[in-house]
Amino acid sequence: MVKEFLRINRRSGGYRPVCERVKDYKEVALPRPEADSVEQGLRCMDCGTPFCHWGCPLGNVIPEWNSLMSAGKWEKAVEMLSSTNNLPEVTGRVCPALCESACVLGINDNPITIRENELAIIEHAFKKGFIKADPPKARTGKRVAVIGSGPAGLSCAAQLNSAGHTVTVFEKADRIGGLMRYGIPDFKLDKSVLDRRIKLWKEEGIEFKTGVAVNKDIKADFDAVCFAGGSRVPRDLKVNGRELKGIYFAMDYLSQSNRLAAGDKISDGDLVSAKGKRVVVIGGGDTGSDCVGTANRQGAKCVVQLEVMPQPPECRDERCPWPKYPLLLKTTSSHEEGVERRWAVLTKKFTGSDGHITRLQCVRVDFSTGTMKEVPGTVFEVQADLVLLAIGFLRDDNLETDDNFMTKNDGVFCCGDQRRGQSLVVHAISEGRQAAYHIDRFLMGRSGLPKL
Ligand SMILES: Cc1cc2nc3c(=O)[nH]c(=O)nc-3n(C[C@H](O)[C@H](O)[C@H](O)COP(=O)(O)OP(=O)(O)OC[C@H]3O[C@@H](n4cnc5c(N)ncnc54)[C@H](O)[C@@H]3O)c2cc1C
Ligand code: SF4
Repeated sequence: MVKEFLRINRRSGGYRPVCERVKDYKEVALPRPEADSVEQGLRCMDCGTPFCHWGCPLGNVIPEWNSLMSAGKWEKAVEMLSSTNNLPEVTGRVCPALCESACVLGINDNPITIRENELAIIEHAFKKGFIKADPPKARTGKRVAVIGSGPAGLSCAAQLNSAGHTVTVFEKADRIGGLMRYGIPDFKLDKSVLDRRIKLWKEEGIEFKTGVAVNKDIKADFDAVCFAGGSRVPRDLKVNGRELKGIYFAMDYLSQSNRLAAGDKISDGDLVSAKGKRVVVIGGGDTGSDCVGTANRQGAKCVVQLEVMPQPPECRDERCPWPKYPLLLKTTSSHEEGVERRWAVLTKKFTGSDGHITRLQCVRVDFSTGTMKEVPGTVFEVQADLVLLAIGFLRDDNLETDDNFMTKNDGVFCCGDQRRGQSLVVHAISEGRQAAYHIDRFLMGRSGLPKL
């Protein structure tokens, strides 16, 4: 029944009411009833040339699992989903769904709810007990160290373990998960979702060592090493007044908030709270949006988000034709919770009193000539007690590799953000899987793992 899209409209699960969700850190997205997921799967046109495969960096075989789910064949659907994705329960929650931009139905209708269908399949599978530890039948005797436990390192470790290698994951933080643990807020990704998967991987034989910062000398103890340490050097805004108290990098603020949500204690002197404060978030991207959501949960007086680039278009234009992923105006669940967003605004300096930030001096900018120009006579001020810098990351700690993900040191590989720069969970998983294939081939001369 490939014409069901004519009858069925796109329907998402939606979010909890704003007045309720801003009072806690629980996930904002409402789980969609299974019957709705089955119906939404029926909208899939099962295209002869499915562009969604191409849109997903994992090459997820989307029409196939849509069709299996809608036919009630959940167990087969999850088998297929798991064959290309080690963490569908994470991408099903936080992926920007690059695939949906490439959905053929999206040319003149609303695309399939691919991300939510993915989530429905994996959560159904966990609920029904289909997901069980599946250790390898035999071990190869080869030992691999994976440095870093974000989505790239974890996917690489899971793939290599399934191929029979003995894998140890080293993590310098106190908990496993990388930015999924200490970057992405709980209201987007509940951390029990990570713990559930890590438990399975432990049962499958992967060894995890936390609180260990590994240097490059580790190679002597292992047959291969893979660095997956992420990309963490934040871009700074070096303008007058930057030294004032009350100006923080977004990641420092978000990781502290994630720790608090996990029950950790932060001493009063180190605590950064938005409670009762006028908060300015500089940077209009996803990290900035996470700061907005966190500041509102902490009880900020008001939140302003400034972005230097102009406001993006609301629908596709000639600059981003289908099936490319379009840079469109995105209003996240955090934005819905309360923020004043301003575009084409450059922060010129911070001013304060008694050493603490009180105001930002800003100016409007124009990009119509191709370069950024300040608009004369548009200088204005924004009051602030807390400023959060969410203007991206530098590539200072990235490692170079060849096409096989190997660094210039034989047997030392690299993947994820540490190789490609700050990106997305789905790209990190894809990188981890590709690196695992090349490591397996390096160790065994050939590999039965998927290349992607
Ligand atoms: C605030 C924020 C929100 C985001 N939200 C989303 C989102 O909603 N959706 C999405 O798709 N992407 C999101 N991203 C991006 C995504 O989280 C990252 O692209 C992804 O986590 C990168 O994975 P990774 O495994 O390469 O690195 P990371 O997740 O950064 O993990 C690297 C790990 O390596 C460890 N490590 C580093 N050096 C060492 C060492 N020497 N020894 C031992 N351990 C080491 C680090 O402690 C860290 O745990 C977000 C990023 C941020 C910052
Ligand atoms: S991982 Fe992301 S891009 Fe791939 S199918 Fe899932 S939602 Fe789409």
